[in-house]
Amino acid sequence: MAEPAHILIVEDESRLRSLLRLYLEREGHRVTDVGDGRAALAAYAAEGADLVILDLMLPAMQGESVLEGLREQGDVPILITSAKRTDAERIAGLRMGADDYLAKPFNPHELTARVAAILRRAAPNRPRAEEIISLEGGRLVVDPVSRRYTLAGADPSSHGSGRLTPGEARLIAALARNPGTVLTREQLLESVARRPDEVYDRVVDVHVANLRRKLGDDAGAPWLIETVPQVGYRLVATRDAG
Ligand code: CA
Repeated sequence: MAEPAHILIVEDESRLRSLLRLYLEREGHRVTDVGDGRAALAAYAAEGADLVILDLMLPAMQGESVLEGLREQGDVPILITSAKRTDAERIAGLRMGADDYLAKPFNPHELTARVAAILRRAAPNRPRAEEIISLEGGRLVVDPVSRRYTLAGADPSSHGSGRLTPGEARLIAALARNPGTVLTREQLLESVARRPDEVYDRVVDVHVANLRRKLGDDAGAPWLIETVPQVGYRLVATRDAG
């Protein structure tokens, strides 16, 4: 039995919506349900949620835009439910910052089990405000709560700022806690994923690729996520922090 949580269901099929509500309420959760994306963002802005179950194919506003809108507002765990079921579509969902992906049609018992797992994993992985990451004398600073980063690289073209997805923020935090130490994919997976499954064996690599692109470690940044073949990754300083 999961800890009771507040769950926001975004699903335009009303019968499925009612069914999910029934199952989740039976688990002791408090449920808000909405039938379209605008209502979802409004409901989340008004009262938040501990977890969002998000259908991707919605009228008026696509689920992908809803996901983006939710991510702008915070770090809430998001479980995508969708008839889109190829690996590429799953990876795309995870890259956008979803925590798990359940292909339709699914068994409601599987959904409640995944919800419980996500909630269990979300609690200890939630970034703490005191864990601001500052590397190389502050040339890379990441706030794990807002997930905003600022980067001052070796040359002005590599200066930048932006926002990481929750998975990316957790991954860079795990690497930064252990600078110079090789972390295996399995260790990193523990840090970034809320539910390992067959999709997640690639999610660490996806996050690393995104971090390299966003934080520009090929563009004169003072640090590098180094690939250690067959093992994993480590964070190393590459240049004089001057
Ligand atoms: Ca739909």
